[in-house]
Amino acid sequence: MSVMEISHRGPEFAQILQASQTRLRQLLAVPPEFHILYMQGGGLALNAAVPLNLSQGKGVDVVVSGSWSHKSLLEAGRYANAQAAADSRQGGAPGWPAPATWKCRADSAYVHFCANETIDGVEAPQWPDLRALGLPSCAVVDASSNILSRAIDWSRLGVVFAGAQKNTGPAGLTLVFVRDDLLGRALPTCPSVWNWASLAQQRSMVNTPPTYAIYIAGLMFEWIAQEGGVAEMERRALERSQRLYACIDASEGFYGNRVEPQARSRMNIPFHLKDPALTDTFVSQAHEAGLLQLKGHQSVGGLRASLYNAMPMSGVLALIDHMNAFARRYG
Ligand SMILES: *Cc1c(COP(=O)(O)O)cnc(C)c1O
Repeated sequence: MSVMEISHRGPEFAQILQASQTRLRQLLAVPPEFHILYMQGGGLALNAAVPLNLSQGKGVDVVVSGSWSHKSLLEAGRYANAQAAADSRQGGAPGWPAPATWKCRADSAYVHFCANETIDGVEAPQWPDLRALGLPSCAVVDASSNILSRAIDWSRLGVVFAGAQKNTGPAGLTLVFVRDDLLGRALPTCPSVWNWASLAQQRSMVNTPPTYAIYIAGLMFEWIAQEGGVAEMERRALERSQRLYACIDASEGFYGNRVEPQARSRMNIPFHLKDPALTDTFVSQAHEAGLLQLKGHQSVGGLRASLYNAMPMSGVLALIDHMNAFARRYG
């Protein structure tokens, strides 16, 4: 029988789930005071599950650094008194709002920020320490698109969540890391399957978990460990992204990336052509060369290279070759 057929309550699956969480805890050096919860619903479900579990009728401050955090703000507003603590989309280049400029309320339940804006290509250079900034509330981080690509300083955090389908495994699994003292704060309206205290108590099995996605994610965790762990994933992410940005910057404007240099993402690199009319030609010629999924997100257009942990350096080099050849042909 395969993992898809066995009972999620049986010892075989219990072992799969347990081993995957042990490996994940080791990879990210997750301290014992943090629970690792396996949920469903993806990153967007967490935009609701976080305020339902944590807001307690208080204010919620959201740092808007791009499309995903803007969605988080709107969704939190359905359950809590949510406001933007900063908004880098107000004019200028896409970027990461400097933490010193965040306007957070002294009595807010938490401050939400997005570690990597997948669509806009904006990545937080460092995760801020709220206490050092004189902010009392805890940090909630959406790390859906860069989890396991850099080390995490847990001493600064309350909650980290990540849909699995970008850097971890198949869609269907959502990773949630919650500090122990934040459990038990759920609103009475919080759906039972989303209640973090119940999930922690019942080892992420309030109902049937996404067993196959958990199994595959566990294999990914093993692979990361064998390749050298998160430090090696980070080294590769830096190498891949730096090479691609260097190609864009050396193109004399044929290609461009608008993101503030210090906030350029290592994972998702949006870029555009000086002549946008060539975008479709670029995409179709890239496709012929075996370079897929390069169309930018529909909301921003242009092009985007997503360089997740699974992308080998050879893929980036092939893209760079293609970009250089295309620029010579049409530049
Ligand atoms: C993809 C993504 C989401 C939404 O993920 P779903 O699993 O599709 O709900 C949320 N936040 C970030 C940063 C993402 O990249």
